[in-house]
Amino acid sequence: MQVSGLIGNTGTFAGVDLAALVAREGTPLYAYSAPAIRERVRALRAALAGMDAGIRYAVKANGNGAILRLLAEEGAGADIVSGGEMQRALRAGIAAADIVFSGVGKTDAEIDAALAAGIGRFNVESRAELDAIQRIAAARGCTAVASVRINPDVDALTHAKISTGKAENKFGVSIAEARGWFDAKAQWPNVRLDGLHMHIGSQLLSLDPVREALARMAAFWKELAAAGHDIASIDVGGGLGVRYRDGEQAPDAFDYAALIREALHGFAGRILVEPGRWLVAEAGVLLSRVLLVKRGEARRFLVLDAAMNDLLRPSLYEAWHDIVRIGDNTGCERLAYDVVGPVCETGDTFAQNRELPRCEAGDLVAILGAGAYGASMASTYNSRPLAAEVLLDDGRYALIRRRQDFDAMIADERPADEWRSA
Ligand SMILES: *Cc1c(COP(=O)(O)O)cnc(C)c1O
Repeated sequence: MQVSGLIGNTGTFAGVDLAALVAREGTPLYAYSAPAIRERVRALRAALAGMDAGIRYAVKANGNGAILRLLAEEGAGADIVSGGEMQRALRAGIAAADIVFSGVGKTDAEIDAALAAGIGRFNVESRAELDAIQRIAAARGCTAVASVRINPDVDALTHAKISTGKAENKFGVSIAEARGWFDAKAQWPNVRLDGLHMHIGSQLLSLDPVREALARMAAFWKELAAAGHDIASIDVGGGLGVRYRDGEQAPDAFDYAALIREALHGFAGRILVEPGRWLVAEAGVLLSRVLLVKRGEARRFLVLDAAMNDLLRPSLYEAWHDIVRIGDNTGCERLAYDVVGPVCETGDTFAQNRELPRCEAGDLVAILGAGAYGASMASTYNSRPLAAEVLLDDGRYALIRRRQDFDAMIADERPADEWRSA
């Protein structure tokens, strides 16, 4: 699905007129296409057909309850990294058994709540965590099901801040350490350690690192099986990249599934995949109004009413997002702009020296590829309330997060007029 083409000169997205939409709901506004999300999840399911495989959507990409419900309806489970994400997944109707819990720093309270809910599996990232799960499961008188997160030590060829599968990254354990856990698994009688997990990074545009990592994990699975360990689950993680700029080529679901099929040929257990970005990124746009055009000494600034607090990726990762002006752009003069927000940081820049049709105050622009790691990373920095979110489907829309108002933004603050002793 080519979102830029969809919006283009028609100014519609999933059949909804964007100018009319923002006239009602204001800006900045996150808009997600339900058909685009369904298309992705169905494409992935079709690609995985024939394997005993389940999708565990990475909630951190976009945890809005309506998005989770949509994915749950399409048969996806959840990959969570906190107790809060577990609550979101459960409330969206995702079965506890279809939830896997990843992350390097699970608290005792989170582990206990996950056991109480009966989540499907823990992806364990350290020996200390394994000990904690054993202790808490024993206290509950239950058995936790767990996979070891392997750090396969491959270079995912992506941005350093979203690379997770090199030995120097904080994630997972070496195959040597994991081998020790399996050999000593009687030490953790309340943990059924019968799975392998990996996740080497995000926004992977090449499948070569995945092939390499899968090969290492598959060799380890075969070694464990030969040693008599029952391996019931192999979770290959997420990370599939998407197209953020025209001309970029994102991996194809069928190529990805073919890699998995080949690497895990002969595996009789359950295969799990944990895509986040690939399912939702291209289905979302951030709509924003041009506040003004400012001529600097050296540059022309397009100042939007959206900012880094709404969409952090450009500031955090120097990420590129295509930007389109909504309206009739045919025959428009094109100019180079630095597209910025109103936040008091030089890093509050969506794009530098970006060619766009000539823009004026009041124009509407769409920042594309904003469905993942957009709203979920938003903050109220500069006391800017959180943006509203809408889900679009077949010419209609639903408000799935109302715009935060000032009172809601400061609701948890208290004056320091009540002093206690700790
Ligand atoms: C973030 C994350 C994912 C999803 O990554 P995407 O790049 O959004 O697909 C999957 N698994 C784990 C463990 C993660 O931390």
